[in-house]
Amino acid sequence: MKEHASAAARFRNAPSLAIVVPCYNEEEILLDSCAELIRQLQRLIRIGKATADSKIYLVDDGSRDNTWELMREIADREDSIVAVKLSRNRGHQNALHAGLSQTIEEAVVSIDADLQDGAENIETMLDHYLQGSDVVYGVRSERHTDTFFKRFTAEGYYKVMHKLGVDLVFNHADFRLLSRRALNALLQYPEANLFLRGMVRQLGFRSSQVEYRRLSRAAGESKYPLRRMLSLAWSGITAFSSAPLRAITLLGLAASAFSFIVIVWVLATRLFTANAVPGWASILLPLLFIGSVQLLCLGVIGEYIAKLFEEVKQRPRYHIDTVLGVEKSGAIKQKKVAATVD
Ligand code: UDP
Ligand code: MG
Repeated sequence: MKEHASAAARFRNAPSLAIVVPCYNEEEILLDSCAELIRQLQRLIRIGKATADSKIYLVDDGSRDNTWELMREIADREDSIVAVKLSRNRGHQNALHAGLSQTIEEAVVSIDADLQDGAENIETMLDHYLQGSDVVYGVRSERHTDTFFKRFTAEGYYKVMHKLGVDLVFNHADFRLLSRRALNALLQYPEANLFLRGMVRQLGFRSSQVEYRRLSRAAGESKYPLRRMLSLAWSGITAFSSAPLRAITLLGLAASAFSFIVIVWVLATRLFTANAVPGWASILLPLLFIGSVQLLCLGVIGEYIAKLFEEVKQRPRYHIDTVLGVEKSGAIKQKKVAATVD
């Protein structure tokens, strides 16, 4: 894993690199982040780890502030910037997917707009790519910059997912590098409920991890309030695990066993004792109990049916409103086709 990073032998040539950045209401931080990303990209090109046609893809996820205006200005000014605008807010995972699907480069890195994951770590990821990794996971080595609540819930979540049989990389979110073939494989997944960190684990290919310390957000506030975090966590469970369904079966079995005992007790009371009319509690308690268990079960099954419904509809995940700088990437595409004909 880490030892790949400094090894001398390269298995691949320097790739054209795409850095994909989903942005939602990021006007406070966008210019600084772009400047930093451009600086990092130019450095990578200079030291021969990425080719000069590398690009940064900014995806505006239906922001309500000035994010798109800023993106347009940067895309106008800077050759290496491609700006993509979604028609409305579709959430981080969809925005990221939209950006990934627009790239044509050989290695693709996804990173949050606040650069909390540290753009300088892209170099180490590229080292792993050059050594032959198709998937490089950015893994947080510690969570000091998180609140106690976030740290506790996030780490607890990874543990629960592991228990539910969902294959995730511990403390890896959406900071990762994918090779072109890994990305092409990922783009074949048709599901509408995206949980990219789980889907990437399904790809296979050679993978490795890069550890880094996550910084705190320099400006603006988190676009992941508790509600969105819970929704992402729930998507991860329902999209990747049927353990809750199995738990319902077990719960149903336990409830049946309990009811059976109650039935025996009621019958025994009726047949062998003088208390011919059982008390209201012995009727009401099992009634309430079974009623509530059934409701709970129906609720969870309903969640899955809701997901099935979403998938069966096969609606497009998003519609792209505008793509700027496409002539730049188009030019690369033509060049690439010519190269493969050779
Ligand atoms: N984001 C997005 N669409 C949304 C919410 C967030 O594209 O609906 C982007 C956001 O601009 C950022 C990334 O997702 O680039 C992660 O968000 P944030 O940094 O606020 O999350 P946190 O670091 O607090 O988990
Ligand atoms: Mg962040």
